[in-house]
Amino acid sequence: MTELVPTTCMRCAVGCGHVQQAPEREYGLETVRGDPGHPVNQGLACQRGVSETAHPDGEWLTRPLERKGDDLVPTTWESALQRASEGLGTALEDGGDSVAVLGSGQQTNEAAYALGKLARGGFGTRYYDANTTLCMASAVTAYYDAFGSDAPPPTYDDIPDAETHVVWGANPAAAHPVMFRWIRQSAAGDDSELLVVDPVHSETAAVADHHVPLEPGGDLALARAVLARVVETDRIDEAFVDDATIGFDDLRAELPDAADAAEMAGVSMSDVDRLAAALADPTLLYWGMGINQSVNGTAAAGALIDLCLATGNLRPGSGPFSLTGQANSMGTRVCSSKGSWPGHRPFADPDHRRDVAEAWGVPVSRLPDDPGPGPVGIVDAIGDDVDAVYAVATNPVAGMPDATRVRENLEEAFLVVQDAFRSETVEYADVVLPAATWGESEGTTTNMERTVSRVRAATEMPSGVRPDLTLIGQLADRLVPDLFDDRPEPEAIFDEFAALTAGTPADLSGISYDRLEAERAVRWPAPEPDVAGGYRYYEGDEADDAAASTPEPTDESWSFYTRSGRARFSSGTARPLPEPTDESYPFTLTTARRPDAYNTGVRTREDEPPTARISPATAAAFADDLEAPADGREDGAAVADGRENGAAVADGREDGAAAQYARVVSRRASVTVSVEPDAAIPDGVVWLPIHHPDVNDLTLPDVDPRSNEPNFKQCAVRLEPPQERDVRAVAEASV
Ligand code: SF4
Repeated sequence: MTELVPTTCMRCAVGCGHVQQAPEREYGLETVRGDPGHPVNQGLACQRGVSETAHPDGEWLTRPLERKGDDLVPTTWESALQRASEGLGTALEDGGDSVAVLGSGQQTNEAAYALGKLARGGFGTRYYDANTTLCMASAVTAYYDAFGSDAPPPTYDDIPDAETHVVWGANPAAAHPVMFRWIRQSAAGDDSELLVVDPVHSETAAVADHHVPLEPGGDLALARAVLARVVETDRIDEAFVDDATIGFDDLRAELPDAADAAEMAGVSMSDVDRLAAALADPTLLYWGMGINQSVNGTAAAGALIDLCLATGNLRPGSGPFSLTGQANSMGTRVCSSKGSWPGHRPFADPDHRRDVAEAWGVPVSRLPDDPGPGPVGIVDAIGDDVDAVYAVATNPVAGMPDATRVRENLEEAFLVVQDAFRSETVEYADVVLPAATWGESEGTTTNMERTVSRVRAATEMPSGVRPDLTLIGQLADRLVPDLFDDRPEPEAIFDEFAALTAGTPADLSGISYDRLEAERAVRWPAPEPDVAGGYRYYEGDEADDAAASTPEPTDESWSFYTRSGRARFSSGTARPLPEPTDESYPFTLTTARRPDAYNTGVRTREDEPPTARISPATAAAFADDLEAPADGREDGAAVADGRENGAAVADGREDGAAAQYARVVSRRASVTVSVEPDAAIPDGVVWLPIHHPDVNDLTLPDVDPRSNEPNFKQCAVRLEPPQERDVRAVAEASV
């Protein structure tokens, strides 16, 4: 029998402990299940975390590849690494900014740290970022604005103690199943409730006590309407606001009329009042990409934090709690030198820059002056500043907005792709470096509530595959020879990174592999070997009253990493949506996760074509359009003869129903979809999964000006009948 290896699930950022076991022969994993001994999940695990780990449905990369003309052909490690280093090295002759590096929230802490060290300290490029900016950057920016430090104040330990759970612009029932189980258990208690704010009646909304639907993009207006009602109904925690915050008077003076803001958000005043009243109880306010992925992402996330501050929801059992998607988004934020130096050291601070440069043994002048323009700006720079791209564990061709432009730009660059699966981005590569994946790598990961846990190799990997950290070290060895000592090993790299966090707000210097071996998982800040993080910024003693069922805290105090030591209210105002609907593009496209699909789909092959969910009324109106005569629209779109074009074709679905196909058309592209009427989707909205590689051809590349996070969640589209050739292609694909 092979050994049962305790490790951590890398499927999502809940961070459940797994035990994994290799088969007697061959590669892969035979057994994957929750680890009863892991403090985060105590044996719980979700089916998709288990099945996608044990049986990923993607095309594995098992040999290095290099481009010969139009083809990617197998090659040796020596040839692949030589060609990769020559291509990157040639670009570096024009300066560090000539090479862009794209990282990922799917790497271990060790690989993410090493990649950042290579990009910033080795190449010296400002064109370095990670796909975590595509989902979390707005929350991060809002945390810094409010607290002077990143990461949620609460932890999973606070979930049972909350009485109100507000899930806003997130769908943890689909995205974070084990965590959502804890939320539901807590919300099921007496005097507890679950409220969901979302334009879509999601899987989470379906089991909530109350669903507040709002207009797509109406989040900031609604948050301000709720705060205005909190003020009007005297629900402000004046003592907390006076003692621990600054900026409330300025914000209060600028608050809109609650009814006006509610109308702007498309929400009834009774729903606004219900949210305002619910915040009077200990509240955990969770949010996700529905808030972050917007040009107003930072302002909206800040407005949610304001709701917590104004109502004193910044003590155990309450607080703002952003939900992170990728397994190691948090680790990428702490260690990868993406937007801050390791330990959240400020990027522009000369003392921290000097410390980092000294630790790395590089001249401080090599470190770039600013963290760069974000992933969209990096792709824009290809062909101007950037000549070569090194992409690690990320799939920008499918995962970034306006993907047609991403493909066109990447075609202009020398591209090295390091990944475990044959993603869409691999097809544009000059060199492909096959990397180890879940169950094959050693290292650590950090979940969304700041807990660091070991990742272990439970199975062998094929000879044509190498760990991310090894490959980063081998490229560094050829391009920046003294950046790493010998061959970088995970434990030594962890110790190096943890030492760099000493004395910072994200102090992990008390965590070591030995400690993780003994305790399984440790939450930061952990500045000493016997200290672990809990609720942040807060100190309070519980009253010595054994008769009280819920002991009241006394002598509370708060301290924050801001100059004043107080939490800061925000002042963000709404920018108009970058692409409102109009006569030519009358629907709002929104994208979101399906429970059974993985990020850009590389581990879970997608349906062909993607399924667009629309409301029954929208579906009926579309069907009417198909039957109406051509209407001579200004844009010349033909909507008249869809039936003759074969708009409705039977494709042998199991339910025997004929599939309805359509084209979703944005100003950037058009994509053939299968249409599914669904009462969960509001009228006027087209819902598509983020996982299908075609979907981001439609989305637009506008970003939040503070966080650089793209506005994935809303763009204007129209529905058209499919062209006859589309339908034929779809029918052939589904045979
Ligand atoms: S909830 Fe997330 S971390 Fe836990 S088993 Fe499921 S996918 Fe893995």
